[in-house]
Amino acid sequence: MSETKPPPTPTKRRDFLKKAAVTTAGAAVAAATIGAPAVHARKKHTWRMATTWPPHFPVFGEAADKLAHWVDVMSEGRLKIQVYGAGELVPAMMAFDAVSRGVVEMGHGASYYWAGKSPATQFFAQVPFGMNAQQMTAWIYKGGGLEIWEDLYSRFNLIPFPVGNSGVQMGGWFNKEINRIEDYKGLKMRIPGLGGKVIAKAGGSAILVAGGEIYTNLERGVIDATEWVGPYHDYLMGFHKAAKYYYYPGWHEPGLNLEMFVNRQKFLDLPKDLQQIIRTAAYRSHWFEFAEFESKNVEYLNKLVKEENVQLKAFPEQVLKDLKKLSGEVLQEVVETDSDSRKVWDSYTAFRKKVSQWSKVTEQAYAKTFTM
Ligand code: CA
Repeated sequence: MSETKPPPTPTKRRDFLKKAAVTTAGAAVAAATIGAPAVHARKKHTWRMATTWPPHFPVFGEAADKLAHWVDVMSEGRLKIQVYGAGELVPAMMAFDAVSRGVVEMGHGASYYWAGKSPATQFFAQVPFGMNAQQMTAWIYKGGGLEIWEDLYSRFNLIPFPVGNSGVQMGGWFNKEINRIEDYKGLKMRIPGLGGKVIAKAGGSAILVAGGEIYTNLERGVIDATEWVGPYHDYLMGFHKAAKYYYYPGWHEPGLNLEMFVNRQKFLDLPKDLQQIIRTAAYRSHWFEFAEFESKNVEYLNKLVKEENVQLKAFPEQVLKDLKKLSGEVLQEVVETDSDSRKVWDSYTAFRKKVSQWSKVTEQAYAKTFTM
């Protein structure tokens, strides 16, 4: 409904015009003599971003570089963000603390890295057999996810922003076939987070290996299997030279949501337009990463299969069913022991239930036509 005001009577109109003239003249004088608001608005800010990726790391790090560039252009140079790779400013796993304390203004990573701070952070990144990229994005922006995430991070003096999604990842590289859930018994696999807990429940061991050491460990048999990201990143790591089978789908990471986090006080101290510029750049980054993953992964999957003769294998349906059951148990354990996780999980599952009904008659039904 729009509000319509009656036109001013002739006398009122004269008064109004007089007042308007005085106000305009006053404002002009103030602007000419003081000029302070204009100077304040042009103040230049230099911020630093500590990322959890190697410098300029494909997609993840590139997105951080681009975000800084977009902010620079949109703000006409008033907000410069210097992007640092892991270890250049602070070690990867220190980024959260550094931004929380205000030593660094912003950080870039994935929220499940901070499970030690609060187990609930994991749900804003990815959970095994959780929502896909499309559903995660809808839950975060429109399903109440972002509000709960902001509330949780405000305790650490941080504001979180979604800045990308990997889409469904790959299941990983194996040197033996996975035909039954029992094949996980004794298997040493590099797989972090909740997915790792599921593998442990299946009788395997989840081994933590830093990115740079995975290939050597796989080649030397220190680990039997590894997951990483998708065909693009996996190809660059050369895993096809150290493992026989490439399994799909990545049930443990079906739509990893990436994050940027900003020191809350420093963000609130910025002029409103710069705050909006950061928000806008984060939105753009979200779709940049999503499109980049989709297009690069298909290109490199073809390379792996056609040029490198990689044996692509689907996890048998029963194995996925068994892993899904174990994932339910792992998630239940997290939720039962942490009230914040319970709160996020309730919102997550309620939205998922709703969106699944929609996905059933759209994505799920439509996907069947891909192979017609
Ligand atoms: Ca992964």
